[in-house]
Amino acid sequence: MVEKYRCPVCHHDIEGDLVVFLDHTKMEMENILKNKYPDWDKEKGLCPKCKDDFESWYDNLKK
Ligand SMILES: [Zn+2]
Repeated sequence: MVEKYRCPVCHHDIEGDLVVFLDHTKMEMENILKNKYPDWDKEKGLCPKCKDDFESWYDNLKK
């Protein structure tokens, strides 16, 4: 029995072991995420897709 996890960002259910967490070097990303999604919390993590989406969006910001 696999535990389901609901991504707080996109609200999709994924397998519990696919959850990714931002590491502490990404404080700035964390703050932006919190602004965009007030319900989001670092401990809640996010799904790999949201992380990828968010990282590419964030990389574009810096260009
Ligand atoms: Zn997601």
